[in-house]
Amino acid sequence: MKKRKKIRNLLVCGVVVVMMSSFAPVKDTFTPAEQQQISIETPGLFIRSNAFSVDFGSLKNSEYSFPLPVGKAELADGNANLKITTKKGDVVKAMFDGVVRLSRKDGKLGNVIVIRHSNGLETVYGDNGENLVKVGQSVKAGQSVALVGGREGRAYCTFAIMVNGGRINPETLIELASHRLRKQEVVFRRSGNRIAVAVSRKEKIEEKGYTASNPNATNRLDLRKLKEQEWAYPLPGCKVISDYGRRGRCMHTGVDLKTKPNDKIYAAFDGEVTMSRPYYGYGNYIIIKHPNGLETHYSHQSRNYVKKGQKVKAGEVVGLTGRTGRATTPHLHFETVFKGKRFNPAQLFNHATKQLRSHTLVIKGGIVKAEK
Ligand SMILES: [Zn+2]
Repeated sequence: MKKRKKIRNLLVCGVVVVMMSSFAPVKDTFTPAEQQQISIETPGLFIRSNAFSVDFGSLKNSEYSFPLPVGKAELADGNANLKITTKKGDVVKAMFDGVVRLSRKDGKLGNVIVIRHSNGLETVYGDNGENLVKVGQSVKAGQSVALVGGREGRAYCTFAIMVNGGRINPETLIELASHRLRKQEVVFRRSGNRIAVAVSRKEKIEEKGYTASNPNATNRLDLRKLKEQEWAYPLPGCKVISDYGRRGRCMHTGVDLKTKPNDKIYAAFDGEVTMSRPYYGYGNYIIIKHPNGLETHYSHQSRNYVKKGQKVKAGEVVGLTGRTGRATTPHLHFETVFKGKRFNPAQLFNHATKQLRSHTLVIKGGIVKAEK
């Protein structure tokens, strides 16, 4: 049998924990070269791993600003820069929190500022009328860093985003029309002298699976009312190798359960398969929608045994554990959703006893909670 090709361009957050380096807090001292050169490697960025990720979907409003909030942005210079046109007298804002690494006059970019951010990126603001910040100064997202300049009677900022001294296409991260940051997780991977940028389409899974939650199910689900044959623990005999929850700047959206390779994975409840196919870094992915308002997601399978549209029973084998996608070891990445809200699978199952919890799941303030 032909082995299914691994889809390797994206990343599951749980794996990020294991593989990604976390970028150290930014220092406020810089070498003369760092203060002089716009394009320069960021020390320590790839010290522990050749990749790091940023979850832009989890940033608060106060943690991001478009450099010229009322400006009109267009790509320039072969997509390396954004030219953001505005009115004279406008002020240029820092995109994220960070420390000013360079603030000087450059032959090409005129008055230019480079800010190093703790998320590993650097941003460049050029053609300024006047720089308002100094090297070593800490700045907040949205803080004014320069007066807008420009040339030939036009007021604009030449803006760029860099990773390790290399410019990336700003449109990968920003919606140019709305100025909004795209809500996505992005992986920056060093390969030779280049930086490969991979975008996780995770949010698309959410749209697909989550919004179509059964509208007839109520916002309450008393798990005690489920009979023995109406539920099944998805991977009996497993141990938890990574819990659900936040890991630094990364959100682990499910729980990682491990037994052995090619072990049977069981449908948690009766339901209908709404997706069964390879999905980026998740490898072979299955979504089952259950009539009780729950939805369960299974990924990294070596094999998926079910097809989209297929009805399954609780305890039916849906696939085998594997390490397709981005996984360092064969395991099941298991996610749970109630009425469109993702929640910790430990609120559904006790992983130690492999039993269904005896409480009621309710949605309060948009969050799934357990009620006795
Ligand atoms: Zn995981």
